[in-house]
Amino acid sequence: MNKKEKAYEVLDKVQQLYPDPSSELGNWETPFQFLVCVALSAQTTDKQVNKVTKRLFEKYPDADSLSKAELEDVQEIISSINYYKNKAKYVIQAAKMVIENYVGSVPRDINEVVKLPGVGYKTANVFLSEIYEDNQGIAVDTHVFRVAHRLNLSKKDTPGGVADDLEVLFDKKDWHKINGAFVLFGRYTCKAKSPKCDECPLTALCEFYSGVS
Ligand code: SF4
Repeated sequence: MNKKEKAYEVLDKVQQLYPDPSSELGNWETPFQFLVCVALSAQTTDKQVNKVTKRLFEKYPDADSLSKAELEDVQEIISSINYYKNKAKYVIQAAKMVIENYVGSVPRDINEVVKLPGVGYKTANVFLSEIYEDNQGIAVDTHVFRVAHRLNLSKKDTPGGVADDLEVLFDKKDWHKINGAFVLFGRYTCKAKSPKCDECPLTALCEFYSGVS
């Protein structure tokens, strides 16, 4: 089995475990709201984000209303999540830019999405994959990074490097599947501490497992 075949074997088995790998972020109904959710989720669990977005979107449901929000009010609403002060500032600035530069809609070009304050390539890729199944790159967070390393799909030491390797192994038409599937697999099965190797269908392909068992 070559490395590409192995990568697809991994994806197939992970998808069998997690057949509906959509994001666990809730409370959103529009692409703009989803972008805000993803931006707020950096260094914060989806559950924590879900606790604040209901109230946030009730008061500021779209880019227009959020662009006019008082910084202190948004900070108060999202104060239970990490880095809330900066995140409040960024989502208001992003809302203003969406209104002023993109006539109220989040752009679909990744090179434009990353111009929004507080939005890096990972956030932009998660957004484009989830909303449009658009394959402009593979988003690599801590879970995707760990899974790729343990299964020797990449040994690069940066998220960007791992993304480069995964984007070679997987066909572009499949890129949008990787983040969602690997995130859930990493969050619930191939956990950072105490991975559930006894329940994992990938032991035969796993360098980490063969090294510790
Ligand atoms: S065998 Fe264990 S370490 Fe390897 S992929 Fe499965 S859960 Fe992760």
